[in-house]
Amino acid sequence: MALISGESLERVKQAADIVEVVSAHTDLRRQGARYTGLCPFHDERTPSFSVEPQEKLYHCFGCGVGGDVIKFVEEKEGVGFAEAVELLADRYGVELEREQEDPQAERRRERRRRLEQLLDRSAAYYANYLWESEEAGKARDYLAGRGLREEVLRDFGVGYAPSAWDKILVRGQQAGFSVEEMRSVGLAQRGRSGGDYDRFRERIMFPIRDRRGRVLGFGGRAMRADQGAKYVNTAETDFFHKSQILYGVDRAKAAIAKAGRAVVVEGYTDVLALHQAGVEEAVGVMGTAITPDQVAALSGMVEEVVLALDADSAGQEAMLRAQRVAAGRRMRLRVAAMPAGEDPAEMMAEEGGAERFRALLEGADELTAFQVRLVLERTDTSSPVERDRALAEVAPVLAGMGETVSREELVRKVAEQLDLEPAMVMGRVVAATPATGGREEAAPERREPPQQQPRRPAELTSRERRERALLAMCVAIPTEGRQYLARLNEAHLSPTGLRVAAWLREHPEDPASNLPHDDGELAGVIAELLIMSREEPASHEAMELNFLLLDQRRLEDEIAAAGERGDYERRAALSRERAALVERIAHAERPAGSL
Ligand SMILES: [Zn+2]
Repeated sequence: MALISGESLERVKQAADIVEVVSAHTDLRRQGARYTGLCPFHDERTPSFSVEPQEKLYHCFGCGVGGDVIKFVEEKEGVGFAEAVELLADRYGVELEREQEDPQAERRRERRRRLEQLLDRSAAYYANYLWESEEAGKARDYLAGRGLREEVLRDFGVGYAPSAWDKILVRGQQAGFSVEEMRSVGLAQRGRSGGDYDRFRERIMFPIRDRRGRVLGFGGRAMRADQGAKYVNTAETDFFHKSQILYGVDRAKAAIAKAGRAVVVEGYTDVLALHQAGVEEAVGVMGTAITPDQVAALSGMVEEVVLALDADSAGQEAMLRAQRVAAGRRMRLRVAAMPAGEDPAEMMAEEGGAERFRALLEGADELTAFQVRLVLERTDTSSPVERDRALAEVAPVLAGMGETVSREELVRKVAEQLDLEPAMVMGRVVAATPATGGREEAAPERREPPQQQPRRPAELTSRERRERALLAMCVAIPTEGRQYLARLNEAHLSPTGLRVAAWLREHPEDPASNLPHDDGELAGVIAELLIMSREEPASHEAMELNFLLLDQRRLEDEIAAAGERGDYERRAALSRERAALVERIAHAERPAGSL
C-alpha cells in the first residue's frame, strides 16, 4: 500500500467540515468567527473547547488537546492517521490518490504485511487443527465442558496447537516464511541448544485481534497440569503489547457502540461465554485490573465501562491509575461485584446465570464508591489505628474523583462510619490531591502583561505560559513577531516552544497550513496559539515585556549555572546584567489594560 498523496490530503482537509465532525461529540455554539463547547476529551461544566472553522483546528484550554480535523478523528475514533483520512474521505466524497513512498518505509510496510499474513495463516491452521485433528479431542471436550458451543468458538477463531515441536515452524517455512519472521511474531523461539521450536504446543489457542480484526498474537491455555504456565501469551513483540490488548474488541465494537457501554472481564473464556449469552459488548483485559492504556483505548469508543473483574484482588494502585485516566477522559468506570470465587464464564454455564449477570451489570457501583466500601468493610472501626489506616487508604481514592456531588456524599459516609468530622475527612482528601500547578514560580508580582485566560492546561509552568503568550502574539502580529522569533533561543524556550518557534519562523504568514502529521504536539500548540491570537489583545508593549521577562528567566538560569560551576566572576557579571534588565522591566511601557 502506498502513501496517500499530499494533494489528496489537502483536498480531504478542504472538504471536511470540522464543525460538523466535532458536533457529533459535543454541542458547539458560534462565538464570532469560532465555535465553542464543552470539551469532548475531558469532563467540564464550562466550555473551554474551541473550534476554528476556517483553519479547521480545535483546541481545549482546559486539558490542552488540540490539532486539525484529522487528528480529531484519530483521537475520537481511536484510529491511525491513514484510517482517519480514509474515514473523512469517505464521508466527504474525496477520492484518495496514492503515491510511492520512500523505499525504507515501503520495506517496513511490506514486512509488516508479511507478518500479518503469517499470524493470520497460523491462526487458521490452529483453528482447523482444533476441529479436524484427533489429538485435539480433549480440547474440544474441555471447551464443551465449559458450556462453549462450536458456533462461538468458530466465530472467535479458537484453535489448538499440536504437541509436536515444529509443526508451525515447518509449515511456515513451507509457505515461504523465515524462522526469523516466525520468531519476531512470537510463534517460534530459540532453545538452549540453538535450535528453534514452536512456542505454543498442546494448548488451546485464542487468537488476539485488534479492532479491525487483524491477528496480533495468541493466548494459549495448557491442557495438562504438568505443562508449565496455565496460560502462555505471545511475548511482547512490535505489535503485541499486552497492556493495550482488549480481547474480543473486533467482535464487540458494534455492540459496545449500540449498548453505550463496554463490559470488561478477565479471561478469554469469560468473553466467549458472555458473547454466547448475548452480552456482546464484553472484552477481556487478561488480568485483574484494567490498565491506563486499555482505559484510553475504550474511551475513544464509549463513555461507560463496567468492570466484571475480581476487583477485590486487583491492586488498589492499579485501579487508582485506571480511575485517574478515566476521570480525565470523561469516562465512568463502574464495578459489577462478582460473587467471590466465581467468574462470568462459570456463571453463564449455570441455570439463569445470564439473567443474574445482567442484574449485576445494572446494579454496578461507581468504581470509587466500590473501593471506598471495600476499605470500610475490611476496617475494624473499634480500633483507632485501623480507622486511621482506612482513612489513609480512602483519601487518595476520593481525591481522584475531583470535586463532585458524589464525592461529598462519600465523604459524609466515610466520616460517619469512621466516627470522624466530615471536615477532617475532607482535609485528608485535599491533602491527598495531586498537585496540579506544576513548578509554579514566584511571579514578579505587579504590572504584568495579561497572561491569557485563567483556564490553562494544568501541566504548563508559568514560564511556559508566558512563552505561549509571546508566541501567540508573534502569530497575531507577524511582522513584529519575526524580530522576536529571531531573538528567542533555547535559553529562553522550552523544547516544545523551541519547535514551535522554528515552525513560526519558517511559516510566518500561514502557520496552520501543511502542519506535519507525525507531530501532533506541534499541531496542537499551533491551534492553541491561533485561537489565543484571536482572543487576546497583542501589542508591541506586551510582546516586549513578555520577552524581557523570559530573558530575565534566562539570566537567572545562567546565574545559577555559573554558581554551580563555581565561576563567581561570571556570576557577578551576569548579576549586573540582571539588575540592568530588572530596571528596564520596571520602566518598560505597560500594555493598555494591564495593572
Ligand atoms: Zn479538554
